[in-house]
Amino acid sequence: KPVIKFDNVSKTYPNGAKGLKDINLEIMPGEFVVVVGLSGAGKSTLMRAVNRLHDITAGDIQIDGQSITQAKGKQLLEIRRNIGMIFQNFNLVKRATVLKNVLTGRVGYYPTWKMVFGLFSKGDKQRAYNALQQVELADKVYARADELSGGQQQRVSIARALTQEPKIILADEPVASLDPQTTKHVMDDLKRINQELGITVLINLHSVELAQTYGTRIIGIRDGEKVFDGPVASADEAT
Ligand code: ADP
Ligand code: ADP
Repeated sequence: KPVIKFDNVSKTYPNGAKGLKDINLEIMPGEFVVVVGLSGAGKSTLMRAVNRLHDITAGDIQIDGQSITQAKGKQLLEIRRNIGMIFQNFNLVKRATVLKNVLTGRVGYYPTWKMVFGLFSKGDKQRAYNALQQVELADKVYARADELSGGQQQRVSIARALTQEPKIILADEPVASLDPQTTKHVMDDLKRINQELGITVLINLHSVELAQTYGTRIIGIRDGEKVFDGPVASADEAT
């Protein structure tokens, strides 16, 4: 059963710009799917549609069989728990410790009033440590986020996503601001998490070379349309 399913999804922005045009898509558990396309093609529009960071204007998106398009309130929060997000700019709380940042991955599991007091269970702290071990940053738990290098900060954001115990990791240009060596480390971590934990990865990259090195499947987007969708081995013929 697909973990992400798009049925005839379109997104038109209020100013008339077409972000996505009639996209159909099925992603199965455990896939490592890379979305590629030129700037302005619709890659981030697609990524943001998956966990409903913005609403689509036609069609339906299902996460693990549940429509996130139709979901309201508590149901929407429950669907979103399945989706860990990673951003180009890391989105960390700069002055907070690594541990605090990673624990915010648990936010979706608590009522808001509890969050105000920063109350986290022992189990959650254990999850945070385990996640930091996955990205080889267990020795940085008490460092302040802004003391770390860009690559380390991105790995903290991966640990934050893992702490959420997601089925899916959505990564919107996660390595766009990193140098090649750091990029490799971040991509290797994502690949290992995908392989060892079976978490589905949907990632948007500028580099076709990286897509071919790490992906199992490539989706090509142009002018909001899906123009290619296939296993990495066959992607050469399309370009
Ligand atoms: P990228 O190419 O990496 O997606 P952009 O520089 O195109 O980034 O967009 C940066 C931000 O500006 C995004 O939040 C995007 O939604 C917004 N944006 C992009 N194009 C437009 C537009 N035509 N009108 C208003 N906002 C836009
Ligand atoms: P990509 O991520 O591939 O660079 P985007 O998804 O950011 O592409 O943009 C796809 C199209 O939607 C572009 O034409 C862009 O200008 C437009 N767009 C993106 N965000 C906005 C926005 N907030 N308002 C209006 N148009 C937007």
